[in-house]
Amino acid sequence: MTDLLYQTDSYLQAFDASITAVDPENHAVALNRSAFYPGGGGQPADSGSLTIGGMELRVLRAKKTGAEVFHSIDRDQPLPPVGMPVQGQIDWERRYQLMRTHTALHILCGVVFRDYGALVTGGDMDPLKGRMDFEFETMQKELVREIETSINQEAANARPVRVSILPREQAFQIPDLIRTKINLLPEGILEIRTVEIVGLDLQADGGTHVANTSEVGHISVVDYKSKGKINKRIYIELE
Ligand SMILES: [Zn+2]
Repeated sequence: MTDLLYQTDSYLQAFDASITAVDPENHAVALNRSAFYPGGGGQPADSGSLTIGGMELRVLRAKKTGAEVFHSIDRDQPLPPVGMPVQGQIDWERRYQLMRTHTALHILCGVVFRDYGALVTGGDMDPLKGRMDFEFETMQKELVREIETSINQEAANARPVRVSILPREQAFQIPDLIRTKINLLPEGILEIRTVEIVGLDLQADGGTHVANTSEVGHISVVDYKSKGKINKRIYIELE
């Protein structure tokens, strides 16, 4: 089982670990602990490196398999054996861009629900750009600037972003979480990680976020599309 270091410290860029499993077919290794985000919830997996006795192995991406995070190594490089100590380093510039983007998308969710009562149904992101889908029948072109102004106001409000890990029963008592459909989470999940933009948005979420909305910077609403009468998709970009 990999200790998921990014869950409690999204700013951790480097860490010591040891190899617990080797997967020759996928040219990947599992670690006992890792700061690599393995992808999920619309946020892409991290890349980076593992250094072993002075040799730097390129990590193309991390991926969660069961309770283990596997790190895919460049196929031109050798796979180290189980038990070997390693120093992990994530590609920080890319990850930090993803953290800012992910928090920007939650600001958008919070604003669209608060101001228009529209619920989010999905989302996806790359560094510095993302999209979210809403059940937002009243969305129209004229709202784009209004939404853009509001989300930038919330970023500038420097709201703290808090991560908590709650027992399932406790999380199920929180109305904001029920609204985002946590009841759809599989029964086997006993703890629920929540990400709260204080005073604006609260969601069950496994991703990595900045600690304060002021780190997001300026957000542009660059496009929106109708995906039917009710479903609308809003696209944002960061600087
Ligand atoms: Zn999220």
